[in-house]
Amino acid sequence: MSWEPSRFDFSIPIRVNLSSDTQTKPSHGMKQAMMEAEVGDEQMGSDPTIWALCDRVAALLGKEAAVFLPSGTMANQVAIATHCRPGDEILAHEDSHIITSEGGAPAAIAGVLIKGLAGERGMFSAGTLEEAIRPRSRYSPPQKLVEVEQSANRGGGACWSVEQLRSVTDTAHEHGLATHMDGARLLNAAVALKRPATEFTSGCDSVWLDFSKGLAAPMGAVLAGSKAFIGEAWRWKQRVGGAMRQGGIVAAACLYALDHNIDRLADDHANARTLARGLAQIPGISVEEPETNLVFFDTEGTGMTAPALAAKLRAHGVLVSTSGTYRARACLHLDIAAAQVDEALSLVRQALNA
Ligand SMILES: *Cc1c(COP(=O)(O)O)cnc(C)c1O
Repeated sequence: MSWEPSRFDFSIPIRVNLSSDTQTKPSHGMKQAMMEAEVGDEQMGSDPTIWALCDRVAALLGKEAAVFLPSGTMANQVAIATHCRPGDEILAHEDSHIITSEGGAPAAIAGVLIKGLAGERGMFSAGTLEEAIRPRSRYSPPQKLVEVEQSANRGGGACWSVEQLRSVTDTAHEHGLATHMDGARLLNAAVALKRPATEFTSGCDSVWLDFSKGLAAPMGAVLAGSKAFIGEAWRWKQRVGGAMRQGGIVAAACLYALDHNIDRLADDHANARTLARGLAQIPGISVEEPETNLVFFDTEGTGMTAPALAAKLRAHGVLVSTSGTYRARACLHLDIAAAQVDEALSLVRQALNA
């Protein structure tokens, strides 16, 4: 199998694109905001729109400072490199995005190891963390950082409760470890659990938000933390080529997303529940109960692997993604209205003759 990204086959029409919440296109209003953005040179500290975005996100996440980055992957890597030195170890869930989906960047860039922890739905307990923490010794890699994902992507879009998070971050701090939150979908969790984001982030030394997922901007992530942490993070942003020039044109889209696209995440969650209920009625498909905008389902009962089923759905105009032999994922987002959920369900039934 080739590792090259294959070119998308545009000849088969797409009717409902559930492959990811990254599939949104900037709305007219968002593009208008981008067009009218006041810009400067970010590297020189003179882009007012980027400053405005960083201040907004720092306040939203209850942190002193923030820095704008092109992507969530870069936010994770800049944070990891800032917290750790080569040879250090991170503790994170075994299915976490930094392990499965960032091209080995923690090893390639920061030079760190990651110890994968087990746990249901992409989360782990304070007890599991405690057991994984070793006594300090010159034989073992220094353990530096505990990472959590909110919501947990491969965990099914599951949300850590405030209490679960607090027990894990308290345990980390008691052992002198720093804490980092991959908050790619933190606002989905905040909306689903009806709690302010700061309740989830207060025990995290660093945290970032992705603007290219449910918030529906074309790109961008903002990493927040203490002033000292963000100062150090800026060196890594510069090193990896993440320091921008007239980036305000994108920051304007992110500010627009904060104004218009947070509360409506509840619509995606409602659509996810409708899709899950519909899929569960199709013989052979077994669905994981969604907590946010991600719907994971098992295809084994259909006699097809997830990639085979995804290919079949693709032929009927429905895009889903796969994560394992029999595990598939459908994502709800701003560009999927309730009517398209019904359309997707009838296309899936057609594809499976159900
Ligand atoms: C998408 C995602 C990322 C990476 O974000 P990009 O903006 O695609 O680089 C990191 N963590 C999680 C949990 C994600 O879902």
